[in-house]
Amino acid sequence: MLIGVGVRILLSNDDGIEAAGLAALRRAVEGMGEVWTVAPATEQSAKSHSFTMHEPLRVKRHEERRISVNGTPADAVYLAMHGLLPGKPDLVLSGINCGSNLGTDVHYSGTVAAAREAANHDVPAVAFSLHLGRDTGQVALWDTAIAVVREVLDRVSRHGVPPMTVLNVNIPNRPLAELRGVRTATMSHRRYETLVRESVDLRGQPYYWIGGPHLWFSGDEHADGPLCDQGFVTLTPLALDMTDRAALDLLRCWER
Ligand code: MN
Repeated sequence: MLIGVGVRILLSNDDGIEAAGLAALRRAVEGMGEVWTVAPATEQSAKSHSFTMHEPLRVKRHEERRISVNGTPADAVYLAMHGLLPGKPDLVLSGINCGSNLGTDVHYSGTVAAAREAANHDVPAVAFSLHLGRDTGQVALWDTAIAVVREVLDRVSRHGVPPMTVLNVNIPNRPLAELRGVRTATMSHRRYETLVRESVDLRGQPYYWIGGPHLWFSGDEHADGPLCDQGFVTLTPLALDMTDRAALDLLRCWER
């Protein structure tokens, strides 16, 4: 697939239509084809692949090819591909997420889900995330991310994305000159401190806030978390087929 005139590219994300990372992604693909943005109206991080099926979806057209949907990332991509765009996109890009999607975080990620929704409909898809602590006050280096997106799209243009795969790209939040390289990587396991904070609202009712800070990534030298921590851009292909082949063999003796 050559990226250029006549190619229809759909952009989405989970941080919402107004997110700086989405604007950066738009800058990265400028001039590469017919670019559409269909993204959630509001922040939808950690919504994973959820679909809105029990209430209507509404859209708002901000510009001719820039539309928000009052739903999830998967809603936005589904609606874009099967209703809002004049035809199927040739490529779907999600992000650039403000925060990494490394290791087992991909199960929670709306950014990855937007790309996966496209891959599930046989459209090549890439998810991009910038590895920085979201609430740490770190400045997001979008120019680094834009340069990496362009480099990856050059490879996509030449080689395509393997079928039934989402390409999950994580980018260290460092100046471009301080990136150590690009590595293919496996999914690591990400551990967080578990945290449940109970408090009481103004009506005297209890409420809970969940989710603790990052602890560590487990995985060997080929795993995405440790590699990205060390300054490598990581490319992790995620299969739509999630079958655990090793476990399948272990379960054979359950058959009768
Ligand atoms: Mn997000």
